[in-house]
Amino acid sequence: MCPGEPEPDEVEGALIRRGDAGYETARSRAVWNARLPGRFPEVVVRAASEADVAHAVRHARAHGLRVALRSGGHNWSGSALRDDSLLLDLSGLRELRLTPSTGTATVEPAATGQELVAALTPQDLAFPVGHCPSVAVGGFLLSGGLGWNSRAWGASCADVVEIRAVTADGRTVTCSEREHPDLFWAARGAGPGFCAVVTRFRLALHPHPASIMTTNLTFPMAELDGVTAWTEQVARGLPPYVEVAFVLQPAPPDADGTPELRLTVGATAFAATQREALRALEPFDDCPFGTLTRQPPVPTSFATLHEGAAVLWPPLHRYAADTLWSDESYATQLARIADVVARAPSGKSLVLSPVRPVSTEPALLRNMAFAPLGTSYLVPYAVWEDPEADPANEQWLRDVMAAADPHGEGRHYIAETDLEAGADRPRRSYTPAAWDRLQEIKAQWDPDNVFHSYLAP
Ligand SMILES: Cc1cc2nc3c(=O)[nH]c(=O)nc-3n(C[C@H](O)[C@H](O)[C@H](O)COP(=O)(O)OP(=O)(O)OC[C@H]3O[C@@H](n4cnc5c(N)ncnc54)[C@H](O)[C@@H]3O)c2cc1C
Repeated sequence: MCPGEPEPDEVEGALIRRGDAGYETARSRAVWNARLPGRFPEVVVRAASEADVAHAVRHARAHGLRVALRSGGHNWSGSALRDDSLLLDLSGLRELRLTPSTGTATVEPAATGQELVAALTPQDLAFPVGHCPSVAVGGFLLSGGLGWNSRAWGASCADVVEIRAVTADGRTVTCSEREHPDLFWAARGAGPGFCAVVTRFRLALHPHPASIMTTNLTFPMAELDGVTAWTEQVARGLPPYVEVAFVLQPAPPDADGTPELRLTVGATAFAATQREALRALEPFDDCPFGTLTRQPPVPTSFATLHEGAAVLWPPLHRYAADTLWSDESYATQLARIADVVARAPSGKSLVLSPVRPVSTEPALLRNMAFAPLGTSYLVPYAVWEDPEADPANEQWLRDVMAAADPHGEGRHYIAETDLEAGADRPRRSYTPAAWDRLQEIKAQWDPDNVFHSYLAP
């Protein structure tokens, strides 16, 4: 046994060493993206309980291994996989307990958005879960969380009222606005640089919207300028419970062989009545541009919205993703990237651009490291299958970002930014004051750097 490894019989879950038969499976399970990084932890501990977490942290500390963490494995850059580390795999911690009488839930970090929806909907309760069903709450809530209906409900972390965490010295602490408020502040936005292990989140829930209605329209590339300017203007007048997003995808070339793209405008209302939902979506019925397809408003549910999102982000694919907050208009940003999107090497790639995706009400941004850092937002995703196409797709992502952010002055969202795109990515995902405070909190709670911080190139 090497120094740094917990004794196997001290761990209730599983312990796998580098070189063991199950090691490569345990390593690859840490990352949902099929593009598995070439980084190799020395030991993987699959925790079965909070006690296992504390035990693994103490051993890592005692024997000089740094701790890296995985809840749902959805970080695009595979931040859970680090060299010279003890990988603490929390995928077994997925319990979810509701207390409908207080409108709260206690959720372990590997529970997914889909599991939360399945538990809440029958109780007539809801939560701004991530858009894709398989995203776990762990990394999502720690990053801030841009979820369904976040434009009305705020960043998902605004509904975290308490966490339990195992700290670098192996202690278990409860954090809230009253207890250890600094660590609680960091847990609401620090993302993959958080300096403790969250073993449980207590969430404040919302009444389930009585009516969810959704509509979408698709347009050819020729309509892009008009549609984006028109939609942006319409969105400005909509109530916050209407979520509007652009999706740009490459389309088959036109008859002359010129690259094409398809623009989708989707709008979903999370309303108190069906009448209110329909009224909110009315402007899209009157869209003055020539559509390729038009889906009039239909009733939907969080589960159905998740099914639609899962089609956009299929499992077992290779991904490269990045983010950009900017103060340019959506019309400017989408016009800048249109040609590059149309020439994507993979037909599965897309750019998602939710219109003002999160509430900017000061009351909903209180006491958190997360902040929206611009008035427009976009997320390009390269999606492909063939490993030999890695260079072309990685280059496409860089080309989209260069077109959208020609001076490299953009700001980013820590949950989905390409952490390997530049050493200053994490810093550029926060306000300067929040970044400084995150460094102070890390120095106070993890002075010996037991936990790996943000992945860097
Ligand atoms: C298909 C897809 C769709 C997405 N959609 C959205 C979306 O709609 N909105 C949005 O905001 N984001 C979205 N994301 C991004 C997502 O929120 C982040 O990737 C997030 O990290 C996923 O959480 P995870 O637990 O699965 O990640 P993991 O890869 O398991 O964790 C990432 C890192 O977070 C830290 N971490 C995770 N759990 C803990 C813990 N319990 N304690 C301490 N640190 C921890 C660790 O540093 C870890 O390495 C999406 C990602 C994917 C792949």
